[in-house]
Amino acid sequence: MADSTAHRYSGAVWWSDDEWARLHAPDTCGMCADAHVKENEHSVLIASTATTHVRLARNQAHAGYCVVVLRNHVTDLVLLSPEHLSAFWADVQRAGRAIEATFSPKKVDYLVMGHRMPHLHCHVLPQHATDDPTRNVDISDGPRFLSTDALHSALMRVRAAWDAQVV
Ligand SMILES: [Zn+2]
Repeated sequence: MADSTAHRYSGAVWWSDDEWARLHAPDTCGMCADAHVKENEHSVLIASTATTHVRLARNQAHAGYCVVVLRNHVTDLVLLSPEHLSAFWADVQRAGRAIEATFSPKKVDYLVMGHRMPHLHCHVLPQHATDDPTRNVDISDGPRFLSTDALHSALMRVRAAWDAQVV
């Protein structure tokens, strides 16, 4: 995403109406396409619930970095019903607990953005003892990509912690 859109940023203007409409359309939405699959370019699947898909990012510059993606195509938090909102945040909290249990970070940050991918999702980004706490969050820190074995090991550990959470 960053590579294909980097040239746009020199003008520092918002998406065109057509681009913004395309990003909002479920049939061209990248997260609708692959948030549910076992592995995609950006992440691997930890678990799925009735509400979300919970994924471990391939970029583990912040060990334990996960993304919780709403199952259905809703483009903004403000559009959720109270019940749906509650279920979404419950899954986000569970992911945070699983990360804390697995990776023992100093703090877990929760980021809901979507100006590049307006399909509701929350970045669950741990901050560790080696991270500078005075910096603003940058989800593109690193990148640090694990070996296949190390990623699989991290996936198994965080999935076990996810499964162990009382819901
Ligand atoms: Zn979508």
